[in-house]
Amino acid sequence: MDGIGRVKAVRLIFAATLAASTMIGPAWGWGRLGHRVAGKIAEDRLTPAARAAVRDLLGPGESLADVSTWADEVRRDRPESGPWHYVNVPISEPKYDRKFEPKEGCVVVKVEDFRKILADPRKSRAERQEALKFLAHFVQDMHQPVHVGHRDDRGGNDLQVQFFGQGSNLHRVWDSGLFDQVNRPEKEWVEALSKTITPELAAEWSRGGPVDWADESLAIARKAYRNPFTQNELKKGARLGQEYEDANLPLAERRLAQAGVRLAWVLNTIFP
Ligand SMILES: [Zn+2]
Repeated sequence: MDGIGRVKAVRLIFAATLAASTMIGPAWGWGRLGHRVAGKIAEDRLTPAARAAVRDLLGPGESLADVSTWADEVRRDRPESGPWHYVNVPISEPKYDRKFEPKEGCVVVKVEDFRKILADPRKSRAERQEALKFLAHFVQDMHQPVHVGHRDDRGGNDLQVQFFGQGSNLHRVWDSGLFDQVNRPEKEWVEALSKTITPELAAEWSRGGPVDWADESLAIARKAYRNPFTQNELKKGARLGQEYEDANLPLAERRLAQAGVRLAWVLNTIFP
């Protein structure tokens, strides 16, 4: 390759890399911020025994917040794990039902599976370490309403909307869009949400299991698909703005707080 050819090739590779890194693919769960915030809320609520067990399983200096995004990072290398991040329940359904579990697994089944592996002392350290990372992520994912309810649109990924004048889709709005409208660093999100968790609420949330939590997400997903003002179902190209943000940010915030409280509760129960 001559000099000019090489420069062109380098430019081409650079452009391709840039395109790949900025490309908007299907969204995969709470964004990085949401996962980390829920992970930190959980970490702050661990009992000393659970904290020691978690610290022992994770790498040196690695926190629960750090590993909360791991399952999204390995998704390409672990294609079998793709369907584990969500479950498709039509929003017209009154409740979650086992009939919606595909044979390749779903988020409800995997929360149960990985909890069992983590709690099983006969499993290898590597298996339990991985189970902890998957469990943390999937407890968080299943609190994202459109990871449970959908309307034949891959959990809102195929429902294109305008959010504050920017092209987006409903899934992305719930993953990160609602939070991104608030200009607040991670640490302040953790503080703000932690303040809302009273001992009464924590006790109320620390019960049930993934099936109950899926029912809650389904109920919120029904609201997510409606214009909060007219109550009409959202159509492709819907223009969502402050009204939608005001109606739904409190719900999204509560889901993150619940995910944190419940992850801590599950871990505290596993490591008494
Ligand atoms: Zn995910």
